[in-house]
Amino acid sequence: MDKYQTYIEQIFERNYLTNQGPCVEALQKKLAEYLEVDYLLLVSNGTQALHVAYAVMGIKNVITTPFTFAATPGSLAFQNIDFRFSDIDESTFNLCPQQIKQQDLVWADAILPVHVFGNPCDVESIQRLAQLHNLKVIYDAAHCFGSKYDIGSLLKYGDCATLSLHATKLFHCVEGGAVIFKCKADFERAKQLINFGQNTQNIPVSAGTNAKLSEVHGAMGLALFEHVNEILAHRQQLFEYYCGKLVGVVKLQQWHPLGKPNGAYMPVLLGSEALLESVQKCLSNQGIQTRRYFYPSLNSVTSYRHNSKMPISDDISSRVLCLPMYYDLTKVDVDIICDALQIAIKNY
Ligand SMILES: *Cc1c(COP(=O)(O)O)cnc(C)c1O
Repeated sequence: MDKYQTYIEQIFERNYLTNQGPCVEALQKKLAEYLEVDYLLLVSNGTQALHVAYAVMGIKNVITTPFTFAATPGSLAFQNIDFRFSDIDESTFNLCPQQIKQQDLVWADAILPVHVFGNPCDVESIQRLAQLHNLKVIYDAAHCFGSKYDIGSLLKYGDCATLSLHATKLFHCVEGGAVIFKCKADFERAKQLINFGQNTQNIPVSAGTNAKLSEVHGAMGLALFEHVNEILAHRQQLFEYYCGKLVGVVKLQQWHPLGKPNGAYMPVLLGSEALLESVQKCLSNQGIQTRRYFYPSLNSVTSYRHNSKMPISDDISSRVLCLPMYYDLTKVDVDIICDALQIAIKNY
């Protein structure tokens, strides 16, 4: 927090509060390096990151997953982009490339998978499908700060990937987001787009929006960045500790064999929705807050004008519960939570 104060004082001394100032530029550089990507653009939030990605990719017909946060399909609907859901894999909770209908692949010009809870999608199969059908790939990587795939960053996959840097995410700027592009030309277009479509002479040369991150948000990111390794390592340790304790108690999300968990979330899969509701109530009575990420399955949300049946996502979203996971959590807390969970299941 001291560090944050110092950055804030400097911002007001410079009197340079926004418009790609020194804090945002510095954070952008640090994050690109840290996440091992070439073209990372900071934006005002993770939803704007998606909007910017859609605009730069110029997509119209999108295949996406119903098992995600409302921002994924919501941003498509808001931009009047036509989309179809395709069901998930019951073990990984990610969009299942093998289940995408042939007719949808012919219809689509893009796929928008989500690396759910930071777990890498089947990026190889998705890449093959994209090549075969000439599709753009945009990953909603909102949960993937620090997620690894094989020996590198998960964020390198797709034509672009979006991050959320919201306060509830692993690393944040209070509000914030980023788009990671594979190619420089897309990155340059996005830079213009988030600044009203203006070129470097401030002439609007394309239709744009305002999706800039402010210096105050950048300062928050810079202050937190000094602790990013501790944050990530602690969460990864908690994740492993949880997993060890939960073997035989509940089912867990199956991680991609080449993926390394970042400890962003601690989802567990219960036997039924009735059990989930009972467990959630029981834990809540003991002051343990859990969240139903992601419920309901978004194919059932009528405002998206979709009423398709997605049996696997419908089922999984009715049974997944996210246990507490945050930096201040300790192993002793995890012991208490896991004991309470075990008792709640036994007493059901
Ligand atoms: C949090 C989240 C977003 C939106 O990010 P904001 O920064 O809150 O706008 C998008 N997609 C997923 C999957 C998310 O979890």
